[in-house]
Amino acid sequence: MLQETAKAAWEYGRQFLMNGRVADYIPELGKANPVYLGLCIKTPDGKTVEYGDVEQRFTMQSICKVVCLAAALQQEGFDKVFSHVMMEPSGDAFNSILKLDTASNRPFNPMINAGAIEIINLLAPTFAFSDLLEFVRAICMDDDIVLDEAVYRSESETGDRNRAIGYLLKSKDVLTGDVLQTVDLYFKLCSLSITARSLAGLGLVLANGGVHPENGIRLLSAQTVRTVKTLMFTCGMYDRSGEFAVRVGIPCKSGVGGGIMASVENRMGIGTFGPSLDEKGNSIGGGHALEYLSRELHLHIFDSETG
Ligand code: GLU
Repeated sequence: MLQETAKAAWEYGRQFLMNGRVADYIPELGKANPVYLGLCIKTPDGKTVEYGDVEQRFTMQSICKVVCLAAALQQEGFDKVFSHVMMEPSGDAFNSILKLDTASNRPFNPMINAGAIEIINLLAPTFAFSDLLEFVRAICMDDDIVLDEAVYRSESETGDRNRAIGYLLKSKDVLTGDVLQTVDLYFKLCSLSITARSLAGLGLVLANGGVHPENGIRLLSAQTVRTVKTLMFTCGMYDRSGEFAVRVGIPCKSGVGGGIMASVENRMGIGTFGPSLDEKGNSIGGGHALEYLSRELHLHIFDSETG
């Protein structure tokens, strides 16, 4: 049943691929093949169901913001983290600088670039890149995650807007560390090379309350997981988060590399990969596949029928 529904969702998502385009503002991302679409579902009882391009590696991009927030909540605690970033949807593009200059010193939320850069400023004194890489491997249940050097270089060469965000935060005394080092760590985390399976693994750990389902190890506290999933739900899909919450109703986070990570409470983690993006930066095939799955399996958090 799950197999058939997943296949149908994948086929449904594929119909939309030609309506989007791959991100090319980071030149290396522009080389992605827009016809890729992969869908992977992992359940707490160890089942994996997948279709399409699930072995294809691509970069994590904005999805690393979820991992950074989780690590910061674990390390620094809720109050400290939210004295540096707010919890409000911004309604602006992920890389916008506007409200940061006009409306508030603190970034609106940890899922936009300004928020993630500020969160990484909190992490940097304690964690080296190698520590965070280990954490990402564990939480994604994927030991093969490595840095994609070509994307990292390309991000760094074209990343002045992110450096500008860092300097603006520094000018407001919100970012206290070294701007260039902080933003460099952000570029590296965005450039981690993952698959749809890794995203299903991450979604599953979050769906399972922060406990790795295979070895029983608690990776995140229940409060961290609750906070992360709430912010994914309200802010995880760029400035389409509201529409996505209504149509799909699952906490999700997307990245401009084409990934979407979704976490269905106690039931499953879902990872999709499709680099053809809508105009907001969300995978167009992945988003539609998730909408299909949500409808057929009653995954919307406010769906009163059960799947
Ligand atoms: N590295 C990308 C940037 O900062 C991440 C964007 C994203 O996936 O939203 O522009």
